[in-house]
Amino acid sequence: MARKLAVVGAGLMGSGIAQVAAQAGWAVTLVDTTQEALGRGLKNIESSWAKFTEKGKLSAQQVAEARERIETATELDAVAGAEFVVEAVYEQVEIKQSIFRALDGLVGEDTVLASNTSAIPLTKLAAVTSRPERVVGTHFFSPVPMMALCELVRGLKTSDETLAAAREFAESTGKTCIVVSRDVAGFVTTRLISALVVEAVRLYESGVASAEDIDLACRLGFGHTMGPLATADLTGVDVLLHATENIYTESRDEKFAPPELMRRMVDAGDLGRKAGRGFHSYD
Ligand code: NAD
Repeated sequence: MARKLAVVGAGLMGSGIAQVAAQAGWAVTLVDTTQEALGRGLKNIESSWAKFTEKGKLSAQQVAEARERIETATELDAVAGAEFVVEAVYEQVEIKQSIFRALDGLVGEDTVLASNTSAIPLTKLAAVTSRPERVVGTHFFSPVPMMALCELVRGLKTSDETLAAAREFAESTGKTCIVVSRDVAGFVTTRLISALVVEAVRLYESGVASAEDIDLACRLGFGHTMGPLATADLTGVDVLLHATENIYTESRDEKFAPPELMRRMVDAGDLGRKAGRGFHSYD
């Protein structure tokens, strides 16, 4: 019998996690609050499968089998019986805590509760449950079916056994894991990109180099696929401002202090690609 996974939140990330898990043979229950949200999630999955089959990376048979393995629900109690649960709802601590509190009462005592949070300390989510040792971060990247990394994050009380279960789950979906051994703000990936973006913005803001040249320096000098300012535009200048602010507030480390220019760009609506303008222009 297939092992049972529950994914709470059928947005961009939750639908991607459900997809790769179903492809890997897990019986997946995808939960969201409305049929509309579930419909959007399933549409994301179908359009990704269409691209994979077009490119010959998955056969029609493989897709049909994976599709059969996904069921949906609008009630959280559908998670009962899952051996692993991944929460992927909005990045708000109160919403995530209320879900963790509820999940704790719905699943067996051995079930691992994982969060896809990009920045919320896992310890804050574990603390509202009766099983802090069985709570862990599984930080997948977008788009989940394409990105190879999963950042595993230990809360203060996460056990070795839980970390091993999280690794086994992520690797079963074809991902390669890195381990964040201490529950620091921004984990490893958001800390690295924030530090790079903050310094790139400072160099640009103080007239040391143009946005184009700063990005070229990283692409041609370091082999990065994308420069830091183009990355900020793609992620959203507002999203990165929020991330750096969080890390700065927690760490008081000056290297994460958000440059004034980032704040002014957010005030002006120059949020990056989604606004047509950020550090570069996309008109
Ligand atoms: P999203 O806004 O696309 O989706 C969130 C989903 O959660 C929505 O479908 C919403 O209806 C659902 N939801 C909200 N409250 C719920 C509840 N009580 N029960 C069930 N479902 C509920 O968000 P996303 O981009 O998929 O992000 C999800 C998580 O993944 C966040 O913690 C985010 O920080 C993290 N993350 C996002 C990215 C990214 O690039 N988008 C990358 C890595 C990690």
